[in-house]
Amino acid sequence: MDRKKFIKSLAILPFATKAMELSELNKLTSGFGATEQMPVLFVGHGNPMNAITDNEYSKTWAAIGKKLTPPKAILCISAHWLTNGTSVAMTENPETIHDFGGFPDELFKVQYPAPGGKDYAKMAVSALKSVKVHEDFEWGLDHGAWSVLKNMYPKADIPVFQMSIDYSKPPQYHYDLAKELAVLRARGILIVASGNVVHNLGSVSWGDANKKFDWAVEFDDMVKKNIEDNNPFPLINYHELGAIAKMAHPTNDHYLPLIYAIGLRSKTDQFEFFNSSFDLGSISMRSVLFG
Ligand code: ZN
Repeated sequence: MDRKKFIKSLAILPFATKAMELSELNKLTSGFGATEQMPVLFVGHGNPMNAITDNEYSKTWAAIGKKLTPPKAILCISAHWLTNGTSVAMTENPETIHDFGGFPDELFKVQYPAPGGKDYAKMAVSALKSVKVHEDFEWGLDHGAWSVLKNMYPKADIPVFQMSIDYSKPPQYHYDLAKELAVLRARGILIVASGNVVHNLGSVSWGDANKKFDWAVEFDDMVKKNIEDNNPFPLINYHELGAIAKMAHPTNDHYLPLIYAIGLRSKTDQFEFFNSSFDLGSISMRSVLFG
């Protein structure tokens, strides 16, 4: 990553807020040290088989892992850890959670033995000032996290911890909460939000790999345009699209991680789309790197 670009992008927050939050974080994390501004990733993870399949998606994940400055730790916000309230995992040795059914044994045998990131997780808890965070000592890594990270960082030598998504809350809440996490970007933490821009498992087209549904394309285009325009409001209020929004996300678990990435985007971040294609007709794999 271009260091100059990141240094320029340090002006994330209004000055007073930034100065206050960083000084508090400095007290908390002396010894960790400030770093250049880390990017933020939204990754469409799609089918769990992408973890072990050599395809365009997994190849791109590997290339991004090589391209980015190695993070000190990774915070993953995945569609597959939904809770009532917000939890941050302090687990020392997070287990690889095989949270799916009907896939080959080979996938169930995958282990991603990255260490936990307890000290970094505490930084996340301190950064989240508006909510009472539950410190969780059991959650491991769900497949929204490990299927991607296994390809990005195959050595599993970077600490990883997860934050849950409070599924009782609307998108605006998650957008605001993401802003509180932005200080972690200057502490060497790579934030990976893992979901899908369009995710309708009931409509997947197994027969025709090239099929794309009109409503899926329309929703995907809406997301693309508003990221290009840096306009978060239509993304937060996506339900105003009515029937198309309901088709794109019958439930919004895979959409909310995108809201975190949007909330973490700073004014000076560049953006880059990758894996911008559809899988099985109704799953958009569109992903975006901010940094
Ligand atoms: Zn998923």
